[in-house]
Order: sequence, then C-alpha cells, then structure tokens
Amino acid sequence: MTSDTTAALRARVAELFPALQADLEALVRIPSVSAAAFDQAHVAASAAATERLLRDAGLPDVQILSAPRPDGTPGAPAVVARRPAPEGAPTVLLYAHHDVQPPGDAATWDTDPFEPTQVGERLYGRGAADDKAGIVAHLGALRALGLPDGADLPVGVTVFLEGEEESGSPSFRAFLEAHRDLLAADVIVVADSTNWKVGVPALTTSLRGLVDGVVELKVLEHAVHSGMFGGAVLDAVTLMSRLVATFHDEAGDVAIEGLVAAPEPEVDYDEAAFRADSSLLDGVSLAGTGTVSGRLWAKPALSVIGMDVTSVAEASNTIAPSCTAKVSLRLAPGQDPAAADEALAAHVAKHAPFGAQVTWRSGEQGKPFLAPGDTAAMRAARAAFTEAWGTAPVDVGVGGSIPFIADLLEVFPDAAILVTGVEDPDSRAHGANESVHLGELQKVVLAEALLLTQVGEGL
Ligand SMILES: [Zn+2]
Repeated sequence: MTSDTTAALRARVAELFPALQADLEALVRIPSVSAAAFDQAHVAASAAATERLLRDAGLPDVQILSAPRPDGTPGAPAVVARRPAPEGAPTVLLYAHHDVQPPGDAATWDTDPFEPTQVGERLYGRGAADDKAGIVAHLGALRALGLPDGADLPVGVTVFLEGEEESGSPSFRAFLEAHRDLLAADVIVVADSTNWKVGVPALTTSLRGLVDGVVELKVLEHAVHSGMFGGAVLDAVTLMSRLVATFHDEAGDVAIEGLVAAPEPEVDYDEAAFRADSSLLDGVSLAGTGTVSGRLWAKPALSVIGMDVTSVAEASNTIAPSCTAKVSLRLAPGQDPAAADEALAAHVAKHAPFGAQVTWRSGEQGKPFLAPGDTAAMRAARAAFTEAWGTAPVDVGVGGSIPFIADLLEVFPDAAILVTGVEDPDSRAHGANESVHLGELQKVVLAEALLLTQVGEGL
C-alpha cells in the first residue's frame, strides 16, 4: 500500500464521517434490546434499518435471516449483505450486532439512552459503542472504498449483523450451519471488542471461557431447632461458606487444582484505574497475584453468583438442612471447559466440610479464545492499525467471553479471525452513559478500509 493510497483514504473517511455519524445516531434511536422482556419489534426495526443502510451502500444482495434457537423458537433477525469477490480475490466477513443491552435505570444516565447526544468528542447512547459503532465501522470502510460504485473494492465482502448477541447468541450456531455457504470467508473481522485506550489501538487476542454450575450441600433430613441441636451440628449455610472459602487461596487466587493459566499479557491495567473502574471501596485490597491484566485476562476467576438461603426477614432459630450455591468460573485462554468442569466437581467433592453431602450440577460451558500467533491476517491488521493511528496496536485480552467466537472457529476452521472494536475504557458498554469516542471511530473506519485494501492486495 502506498502512502498516497493511505492519504486519499484518510481524506475520504474524513469527508464521509458526518454522514456516518448521522447514520449511527439514527441507529441508536432504535431501542433494539434483544432481552426477552423487551418489545422485539424494535429489534426487527433495527434489522430493517441496517438492511437499508447496506443496500444503499451498494451491497447488491441483502437479506434478513434467522435460524431456530435450541428451544425451537425463532432466533432474532440477522442481516447478511454480500458483494462477491472479484475473480481470484479473497472474501472478508465483517461481523457486528445490531441489538443492544437493556438501558437499565434511566435515572443513572445523564442523557436519554435512546437519544444520541454528543458531548465533546463522545457520542452518548445505548449501543453508540456496543455495537452500533461496529456496524458503522463496516459501513464506513465500504463507502470509503468506493461503494456504491464498488470500483475500488478489492475483495469480496459479506456483512453479517447479528440481532441477539446481547442475549447470548442462542441461534448463532444453527445460523452458521444453516448459512455456511453464504457466510464462508477467508478472513473474519469481528468488530465487537475494545481498543486499549483513546489513541492506542488494540487487537483482542484472547478471551476467557466460562463454566458454571450449582453446588448443593445437605446436612440434615429436615430443619431442626438451633437451641436443641446447635453446637453439635453445623448449619448448611455455615458449611457452604467453609466450602466456598476453599475456592481461593489466601492471596485470592483460584485454588482449584488442575486449572491452567495463560502467559502474562504485554500491557498492564493501571491499578488505580482498575480501582476506579471497578468502584472498589477504599481500604479493600485487590485479589490475586501477578499483573492486574494477567488476573483479568490470563487466569481463571471464580465468583459465587447466587445462593439459596433463608432470607433475613424469614429467619428463625432453626438449623438450615441444605444450601445451594451457583458458581461461575471464568477460564484462562487454553483451558478446556470440560476439564475445568471436572476439576470443579472434584474440588467440591474433596472439600465437602464435615462430611456434608455435596453434589455438583454442571451448567453452561463456553470455550476461551486464543488467537493463533502471528498470521498474515494479523500482520495486515497491525499494519493497517499502525497507519490509521500512527501508533502500533497492542495485543489485549478480554476477561469476559464472546462464546460465538468459538463457534466461528469451529464452523470456519480455515478462516483467519481478527477481533477488533471501537470501544475504549470510557465506553461503558452495558452500563449507564455508554459512549463512543468519535475520533477513535473515524480511525477504526480508516483502519478497516486499509485492512480490506491490504487483504485485496494479497496476504
Ligand atoms: Zn457487543
């Protein structure tokens, strides 16, 4: 790629950006919350709006499609738009999602979540970053490369906009399998993650996996009087607490035998920033050892996310016969979820306090993701990001899971997957006052246009 090409694209993106921002604002005004309790007509409306945008952008073949969820109900509408590859050129699949998280308590927002509001360089609104900005990034790259005329587009493109990512992508696997030929690509760009900070781009090279399950602990056939029996028998909540306490060591690292950790990341998360971002109270120390980013991205993490015990209001002087806890274990990149589930089951059995009857009921399992090292597609992406920002991207991990990435890898094992994004640490995806940094979004558009050009020139 010549510097002339880069300069021309940069100018073109700058010229196109006001219209792109207006398109993003129109999308944010559609409250396309995919959670079941919300009106799904809005999700249909956002599918229709993005379909129009893609058609107007010059993609000739645009469809709204869905696949059945595991329970047999239809999945949310996804939009798939294609432009076939020129003879001999590769095809790139551009992924984003058009559904959003619920807004949460409106009182915690400084602006109306569904009325996009620009303050300084940031645009506020639910979905402004996650992930309607991802849609606009794809759209902007295609416009910058000469669509609707299509004269300059050197690759085949398939834009795939999912409609239920924020609800756990229940029909995703069935969708991939049903539309395998439509979606097949050489390179997959998943624009649903984050950059390192404003001014420093990133490629997401690892994501943690997840297993969860329920521990049931029983100590008595039925509840008994604590005055009559207390002292010679411990209640189930106390025993569950002793069991839960074995999940971590003194430093707060997960103490379940047999779990793996990944190497320490190349960048660290500043401890003061972490304390502020997580709202950790003064005087509370951080858990775990090693770098903060390593604890978040490269190591397992276990939380007790629910417990069935008698409520304080209904408490009486009885010894609880049983207690149930739901446990969620985030998995380090490289960890096999089935092995982690077995390790949890073995740990719970081994640490049953006072011989209490303990059972483990396995729940959900999601695979972690670890990008294959230094592929041609990764090199092309790094070069494009470096051009767009003037700064080389860093490799980051994400402590959460994007389970559909594992599905993409399984259904398209030969495709190179690039996980990119438009967020920065202030984006507050899923939270109140979600926002996107418009200057960064413009760089994302340029980087993606440069990447498509590079892929078209050959990897
Ligand atoms: Zn997202």
